[in-house]
Amino acid sequence: MKHGIQDLALFGGTPAFVENHRVGRPNQGDRSRFLERMNRVLDGEWLSNNGPLVHEFEERVAELAGVRHCVSVCNATVALQMLVGDAATAGVPGDEVIIPALTFPATAHAVAWRGLRPVVCDVDPLTGLIDPGRVEALITPRTRAIIGVHLWGQACDVRRLEKIADCYRLRLYFDAAPALGCTHGDTPIGGFGDAEVFSFHATKVVNSFEGGAIVTDDDALAGRLRAVRNFGFGPDGRVEEVGTNAKLNEAAAAMGLTSLDALEDTIAHNRANYETYRSALAGVAGVRPLEYDARHRNTHHYAMVTVDGPATGLHRDVLLDVLRAENILAQPYFAQPMHRLRPYLDESTAALPWAEELCGQLLALPTGPKVSAEDVGIICDVVRVAAAHGPEVTATRRAGPVGTAVQ
Ligand SMILES: *Cc1c(COP(=O)(O)O)cnc(C)c1O
Repeated sequence: MKHGIQDLALFGGTPAFVENHRVGRPNQGDRSRFLERMNRVLDGEWLSNNGPLVHEFEERVAELAGVRHCVSVCNATVALQMLVGDAATAGVPGDEVIIPALTFPATAHAVAWRGLRPVVCDVDPLTGLIDPGRVEALITPRTRAIIGVHLWGQACDVRRLEKIADCYRLRLYFDAAPALGCTHGDTPIGGFGDAEVFSFHATKVVNSFEGGAIVTDDDALAGRLRAVRNFGFGPDGRVEEVGTNAKLNEAAAAMGLTSLDALEDTIAHNRANYETYRSALAGVAGVRPLEYDARHRNTHHYAMVTVDGPATGLHRDVLLDVLRAENILAQPYFAQPMHRLRPYLDESTAALPWAEELCGQLLALPTGPKVSAEDVGIICDVVRVAAAHGPEVTATRRAGPVGTAVQ
């Protein structure tokens, strides 16, 4: 139990945890099931190229997402590149795709990698999601598509974005990398817009080591994407599209299936942790857990808080140092908006105030099946003590010899 700042490890106290609590520990599921699947893969000597486990994984993801087609791929970034490429087949280099300012850099990179220009849109200050009210002003004759991002599993305002995309005849995609298992109302994330993309990276709620999927109800699009994923080969073995190699392999599918088996347990555990965080941080001024819209279901795979520097006298980055000294490896997700990334620095971009403010405040705390309610209580204790002595922590921190990240 921490009482004063002298108890904080950064100031000489004993660290709250002996072992690291990281953000994004993998949800591996039942090891014996994974090994049993791997034995089947090795016995069958079918390691890649649309094997039986990939097939089973695609069927289960499509069912979970409530869509007709799941095209599994090697990661979500390549999946986004494939969709941007599909939107731009009739276009020219320099065409534009509208993306939110607050997302993982892969969303912007996927656009630029296909020779298009990411046009960055500000976000809603409460949710961090793309603000549909600001999208229309960014549409030009060169706009090809809009990519919404279901940040931390929160559903975008899909209906308003669909209306805008319809009205201007634009493709609408969703980067749903963090949103497998989440819903918009009662409808699973997966069937909105022209297509949605999931990630099965090791840190996501379901992991396949590395992996991703494009889900859609569009039969023709799914057919093109299946060809693109496999060097452009169509069903008859002729090359029909400019292809790449984006296939998911059988070992990845074995992990994906095993991790998927554990999804409901993972969600239940995450939800309990979320409630514990909410009640334990309720009295801590200036540190606010992200509020989720109760109409939508969230997997609570991300324990997000905002740290209000002026209110606490404690900048997010100072709190990050306090936590890391306790072996609580929190993460500043996201610390840089897309229009401030070096490749996309654009003098013509106006300031995007909400995204910029959030980037200085957001903090992801550890959660997941390996983080117990007791662990969450200990983490919140540290946050409470640091926030209660914000100016003192900041001042001592500035004077002290340790660390680097003070701003
Ligand atoms: C994780 C993530 C990605 C990248 O997924 P990969 O499978 O690692 O390529 C893209 N966008 C968002 C919003 C993400 O959270």
